Amino acid sequence: MRAVTLVAPGLVLVDDHWPEPRTGPSEVLVEIRGVGLCGSDAAVVAGHRAVPRLPWVLGHEAYGMIRSVGAEVTDRHPGQLVAIEPNYPCLACPTCLTGATSGCVRRRIAGISEPGMLAERVSVPAGFTWPIPATWRGEDIVCIEPLSVAVNAVGLAGPGPGRRCLVLGAGSQGQLVCLAAQQAGAAVHVTDPHAGRLALARELGALPDDGACDYPVVIETSGAVSAFEQAVERAAPGGRVVVVGQSEAPARVSTFRIVQRRLTIRGCLIYDHPGGFARTLEAISAHDLRPGRVLRARYSAADAPRAFAESAGVAGKSWISFEEETA
Ligand SMILES: [Zn+2]
Ligand SMILES: [Zn+2]
Repeated sequence: MRAVTLVAPGLVLVDDHWPEPRTGPSEVLVEIRGVGLCGSDAAVVAGHRAVPRLPWVLGHEAYGMIRSVGAEVTDRHPGQLVAIEPNYPCLACPTCLTGATSGCVRRRIAGISEPGMLAERVSVPAGFTWPIPATWRGEDIVCIEPLSVAVNAVGLAGPGPGRRCLVLGAGSQGQLVCLAAQQAGAAVHVTDPHAGRLALARELGALPDDGACDYPVVIETSGAVSAFEQAVERAAPGGRVVVVGQSEAPARVSTFRIVQRRLTIRGCLIYDHPGGFARTLEAISAHDLRPGRVLRARYSAADAPRAFAESAGVAGKSWISFEEETA
């Protein structure tokens, strides 16, 4: 079968003779229809994020159709359209038992510690597939995973109706945070040094940054150290700073500022299982969220190497469709 693989740092190839996956008793075999690309895939391709071996199947933001189910699976069936939750916590450790599965030290991650989703067929633990109504558009389904991160960030930030919220960074995660915060009723302002990304966020309804340092909610999505420093500066007294983007480089922030303004700074690591995906699917069904609006470039699987090469320059999100070979 066809799979999109990293063969060496920076070198992505389409392999038409990749072995078929084996499906365990508690797994389902999913025929992949679409996979979104994000910053963590780019980090794997660049060699900044280690994977167990090369060649390695890339990708983790996927959806598709169940083709067959393992012997122990009773609540999924062939023909179901599903979104895949690509983080598999152990569900048994003390952290998992508190419900905070994002902090599981034994968490397995598709595309990072487990083979990725950019293949014609993939085996997935059945409990990490989410049945989706057949009427939903592929463009929206492929965005469910990164939207779950955004919905979690917005939940931690708590930007209630009418509250001003500043989003730093208008990359694809920033765009989805803007959509989720708007849906929560916040007055969302956004800033990004890249004019194209900013224009897309504005097109999707975000307001311009007004320069004020009194935002009750600030969400940092870019991972730039300077943006985190700015986030602390821009938060109002009693405000909340939620950090989604990450960098290993140290930031310089004033503890005087944090103490005097009584700020809460909160890291947001993906989402917890199963509440994260459940809340996100509910948000998409109950509202006119249409997260597929952040997609700006679609590629065929054959064109995956080009998709990876171009994704950093695309304002909006790129994705790879397995459904038809578009040039
Ligand atoms: Zn991602
Ligand atoms: Zn665990």
